[in-house]
Amino acid sequence: MVAIEDILAASGRIRDLVRVTPVKPSASLSHLAGGPVWLKCEHRQETGAFKLRGASNAVARLGKVAGVTTASTGNHGRALAHAASRLGLPAVICVSGLVPRNKREAIAALGAELRVIGASQDEAFEEARRLQRDEGFALIPPFDHADVIAGQGTLGLEILDQVPDAAAIAVPLSGGGLLSGVALAAKSRRPDIRILGISMERGAAMAASLRAGHPVEVEEAETLADSLGGGIGLTNRLTFAMCRDLMDGLILLSEDEIAAGIRHLALKDGETVEGAAAVGAGAILSGRLRADGPLVLILSGANIDPTRHAAIVRGEG
Ligand SMILES: *Cc1c(COP(=O)(O)O)cnc(C)c1O
Repeated sequence: MVAIEDILAASGRIRDLVRVTPVKPSASLSHLAGGPVWLKCEHRQETGAFKLRGASNAVARLGKVAGVTTASTGNHGRALAHAASRLGLPAVICVSGLVPRNKREAIAALGAELRVIGASQDEAFEEARRLQRDEGFALIPPFDHADVIAGQGTLGLEILDQVPDAAAIAVPLSGGGLLSGVALAAKSRRPDIRILGISMERGAAMAASLRAGHPVEVEEAETLADSLGGGIGLTNRLTFAMCRDLMDGLILLSEDEIAAGIRHLALKDGETVEGAAAVGAGAILSGRLRADGPLVLILSGANIDPTRHAAIVRGEG
């Protein structure tokens, strides 16, 4: 279980470990959405994504351990490597042979030990579990963990400090750690606020699980919103129930709609974001997200290959 007190405690705990990120209005999106739209620029967080909040809180809460480990390959692995080095703990990030070299290098550059294991995420996870079992490492998963959710929830507190009259928050949704934390934080202060989840049409595991009424597996597909891929875990303990109980609406976007969001944020708002972070803008452009009061879009991450980003902005992606 996660409570608002856990988020408030996380906020104090990670104050010196993460940035307070800016919020800015978007004139063009406000015009299209029919009401004021604010961009929460969390893609300007250290390591380029909000994941540093949850990882820092989880690492700061640890007692005596040999080190920390995970098998996430993207933004969480990078955040965990950074948080561990700030707090002086060894980190071993396990990746499969499929993980591209640039991502491996970004993790290794933070001082973490990188273990390349097998040819699938499952095999990499096996090694993380072995480190936990045999070598006294703490395994910090990317979303289904109370300290990670509480850390992500600090973003919800920050949003209400910056936009106190927010009527709705649009949250990129994958495993649901971000949405669970933000929704709990925001609704504890403002029970009437609406929390909208946005995912891609291709391989959205939380959407399929909510539809089924229990966690299900979906086939993973390549998507522009690569940080939103992956399952929620068949033995999900926290985020499935929290998303089910706290989310007020869910929008699924096509690949073209995500690309349009990336392009719009670059050309009209001057922000370089990855696909996962562009879904709020994409939803407004598609006509499926309106601002019936101040609407906050969470720009969740910036980690996109620059060549790919340039091609998308030119309309070739
Ligand atoms: C991880 C991530 C998300 C989704 O967060 P969940 O807690 O898994 O729902 C969204 N955007 C970016 C950039 C991410 O790295």
